Amino acid sequence: MSEWDDYKLFWEEAVKQIQAELTDQELSLWFNRIAFSSSRENVIIVSVPSSFYRDQVKSRYLQFMENKLLELSGSKINLEFEVKPISVQENNPSSIESQPGTFKSAKNKRSHGETAARSRRDPPPFLKKEYTFDNFIIGENNAFAANAAMAIAKNPGTGYNPCLVYGGVGLGKTHLLQSIGNSVYQDFPAMKILYVTMENFTNEFIQAIREKKQHSFKNKYRHADVLLIDDIHFLQKKTETQEELFHTFNALYDSNKQMVFTCDRPISELKDLTDRLRSRFERGLNVDLQPPSYETRYAILRKKIETVGIQIPEESTNLICENVTTNVRDLEAALTKLVAYAELVNKTITVDITRQQLKDFFASPMQKNITIDVIQKVVGDYFNISVQELKSKRKTKAIAFPRQVAMYIARDITEYSTTEVGLEFGGRDHTTVMYACERIKERMKTDPYLVTQIDNLRKDVRETSNKR
Ligand code: ADP
Ligand code: MG
Repeated sequence: MSEWDDYKLFWEEAVKQIQAELTDQELSLWFNRIAFSSSRENVIIVSVPSSFYRDQVKSRYLQFMENKLLELSGSKINLEFEVKPISVQENNPSSIESQPGTFKSAKNKRSHGETAARSRRDPPPFLKKEYTFDNFIIGENNAFAANAAMAIAKNPGTGYNPCLVYGGVGLGKTHLLQSIGNSVYQDFPAMKILYVTMENFTNEFIQAIREKKQHSFKNKYRHADVLLIDDIHFLQKKTETQEELFHTFNALYDSNKQMVFTCDRPISELKDLTDRLRSRFERGLNVDLQPPSYETRYAILRKKIETVGIQIPEESTNLICENVTTNVRDLEAALTKLVAYAELVNKTITVDITRQQLKDFFASPMQKNITIDVIQKVVGDYFNISVQELKSKRKTKAIAFPRQVAMYIARDITEYSTTEVGLEFGGRDHTTVMYACERIKERMKTDPYLVTQIDNLRKDVRETSNKR
């Protein structure tokens, strides 16, 4: 035993004390997936599930945690973080959830011992068994929503109620919603779970009226313990269904039953929704899903490739991740197409085949109205340097780096060749542009912050172009 093995005890005690000082929401959001990992002199290393999570915890609690450790140990102990992606819910035995006296789950939850021993039940037909937290890759774009969903699944009806997850098509709303269902179904056998799309809810309601069975309709929905309603944007203009949902909502809310909804946009942007229903949705936790960054797309794609069990060259994977930027559904569709082709013609997948088979996917995000001027303006503004400086010969880091970013974006989202891009940047050679793109690509692999920056810049460029 080394002399700083005691650090683990300090950490555990610190966590215990912190629990008394934070709200349940904070705890379940930011502390249930940190685990003691190792230690060395004056340092404790804890593991966290993503760099997003790490940054959030660091900015919110680092000081607080280190003060606690100082208080307990009498000497300064620094906290370091290691990111251990990627699949959720690995049930790390040293996570604080399984330590004594921490994170008691709700009444009828099975204990951890039983969890390990029991066999999984087959989910009800309305839940797809693949839609689990285990299969959900967490990245900066979805960490908040995923953590909220997991917190809900651990303690339905107690914290974030209702919860609304919103975001564009193919970003994982249904997957997360059903993961809550699947998780609660396994962990709380006594709870009645209902998952329904807003469309089916509406149709069922109409049919109930027609057949004069409103009573059984009400009975069904108002006695759920966990009600999951997908795609509530379908409610727009459906006054009577809104009315019915309003009453369902109140009944469940009053008896502390969990409700989770998804929507393809923030509630404020829904039209033709009664104010009182709107205010109900806004009452709880609203979390958004953003398009995945390069890093997350890569992690998702690798996991899917593994699941399918085929061989794809690394370069092809990169190519897909670079080009299919819209959402996870498109990413999956690209992979499916590639696999289908390879199986049909009995060929191994190569980079050329990837390029050729997926050209439709790759072409789609190209927007014809984007000019290099716009890119230079947006990137220049962001880094606070002028377009002239971007085009100049100057090579200081403060200018060279933004220039590389601008070149990369130009190559990424326009169809200009490296020669054309070079010309627009003060008549530089095409090899300079190629080099710049390589540099940025390399850096993006290890720097998630840069990935986010570039994503945002890309978005900005698109929006600015559309406004012109
Ligand atoms: P939405 O309901 O928002 O339109 P879905 O939940 O149907 O999107 O997701 C589309 C597809 O992408 C599904 O097959 C889903 O499993 C997959 N998917 C989405 N996000 C992720 C993720 N973070 N990790 C793994 N798969 C994902
Ligand atoms: Mg969906």
